[in-house]
Amino acid sequence: LEDTLAVIKPNGMEQHREEILQEIRAGEFSIMQQKEAVLSRELAEEFYREHRDKPFFSQLVDFMCRGPCLMLVLTKENAVEEWRAMMGPTDPSEARQAAPDSLRARFARDVLENSVHGSSNAQHARQKIDFIFGEIGEE
Ligand code: ATP
Ligand code: MG
Repeated sequence: LEDTLAVIKPNGMEQHREEILQEIRAGEFSIMQQKEAVLSRELAEEFYREHRDKPFFSQLVDFMCRGPCLMLVLTKENAVEEWRAMMGPTDPSEARQAAPDSLRARFARDVLENSVHGSSNAQHARQKIDFIFGEIGEE
């Protein structure tokens, strides 16, 4: 079994939270941990630090902080790849072509507000799970 970190981003939470959770259940992922929070700028900047030099970085941080996110540890055989496949491509116009049933094809507004995040590999998953669930801590 493998863990991945999924995040329902603010636009996903605003409009499609229940449908996305329904898809996660239908995909037979076990939700091992979950936490709803409005991310601080500092946390969002650290979370997406590998993109800090991209032209869209400040927009991305603003977006991720604008309302609550739901962070989920999903566990399943091959969870990282399976969750990425369920999300579909980053840009919804590509997702609608390549993976019309994917979450981003259905629920993304645009390439920025694309409704969900998923770790890109197992090491990244471990790091971000430790960061998110360690950093925000127990309430
Ligand atoms: P994520 O890491 O959120 O799962 P991803 O791995 O599909 O998404 P990345 O390249 O890691 O894509 O980009 C991280 C996030 O930055 C995207 O999900 C999206 O919200 C935002 N983003 C990516 N490219 C652009 C862009 N060209 N313009 C605006 N925002 C973008
Ligand atoms: Mg990514």
